Amino acid sequence: MTLKTQTKPKIKPAKKKDTSFDLIIIGGGPAGLTAALYAVRARVKVLLVEKMILGGMVSTTFNIENYPGFPEGISGMELSNRFQDQVRRLGLDIVWGNAIEIKNKKSEKEIIVDDKKFIAKALIIATGTEAAKLGVPGEDEFRGRGVSYCATCDGAFYKDKKVMVVGGGNSAIEEALFLTRYAKKISVIHRRDELRADKIIAERAIQDPKIYFFWHSTVEKISGKQKVEEVTLKDTHSNKTLKVPADGIFVYIGSKPNNELVKDIVKTDSHGFIITDENMKTSVNGIYAAGDIRVKSLKQVVTAVADGAIAAESARKYIEGNDK
Ligand code: NAP
Repeated sequence: MTLKTQTKPKIKPAKKKDTSFDLIIIGGGPAGLTAALYAVRARVKVLLVEKMILGGMVSTTFNIENYPGFPEGISGMELSNRFQDQVRRLGLDIVWGNAIEIKNKKSEKEIIVDDKKFIAKALIIATGTEAAKLGVPGEDEFRGRGVSYCATCDGAFYKDKKVMVVGGGNSAIEEALFLTRYAKKISVIHRRDELRADKIIAERAIQDPKIYFFWHSTVEKISGKQKVEEVTLKDTHSNKTLKVPADGIFVYIGSKPNNELVKDIVKTDSHGFIITDENMKTSVNGIYAAGDIRVKSLKQVVTAVADGAIAAESARKYIEGNDK
């Protein structure tokens, strides 16, 4: 066998009209794409369902510094393009649409994507999370006019402006550091006195001359005329409020699971994240979960891809009748 034929696996993609699969993966982020990679390579007849763009939230991350193998970091977009390229070369079948319903039938799972029905022996749920909202007056009103959940997408609009970043986790601090490329002043609003972010980036942010901190503070209100002009903060120690001028506010206060499809089918924790065992098995036979949607202690690209690989392997065993 020549090298050329080795690099062109003889996998026939399912025909467009196929509606019956061994495995359907819902969600095309790092977990879903890796599950697809492992499933296709194991000759499992697999379909991936994605409603928007492949790559998931990682595509909006400016630079990922802790994914092994990239000593200088890699942009989220570049990494997700590489994930996609790898599965597309293998002929992965993808259907674009919104998965709206799952029916867990005796021997199969039925899934409705927009107005189409698909059948699978097993499912992997890799629908990830979405940004949590502050829930304060002005947040919805000024979304896209100063309120943003993606510094990588919108940061360039704030050249020489004053912005706020809400939150103290890795996302908030990484994105505050990213915003130093554009904004002249970045104020981080954190509800406690200590950052949750990893020490290495927390130290970098604290030392950055453009980044300021409002400790033990919360956002009460976002106001302006056509766009954001002012943010009202509350000092949680003194309960005093303070009006601070700002051109933009980036919200990074964690995430909530995209679990609408399965929340009444599989067991979740009190926050709605799916409970799995170490093989990514949920409480329902033949349904697996992978990535940020599941309950776990470390939510990273590296753990999402690991989950995807394990879920695909567990699903393969189940499909072959070896994992009840
Ligand atoms: P996170 O780690 O859950 O941090 C959320 C931050 O928002 C916390 O500081 C929290 O405060 C604060 N917060 C939560 N609810 C709030 C509210 N209602 N009002 C004000 N502040 C609020 O979320 P994340 O930063 O989005 O990260 C999510 C996961 O992805 C984490 O596991 C994180 O490590 C991972 N991640 C990793 C990287 C990386 O390693 N490169 C990058 C990004 C994200 P408290 O601290 O007081 O709870």
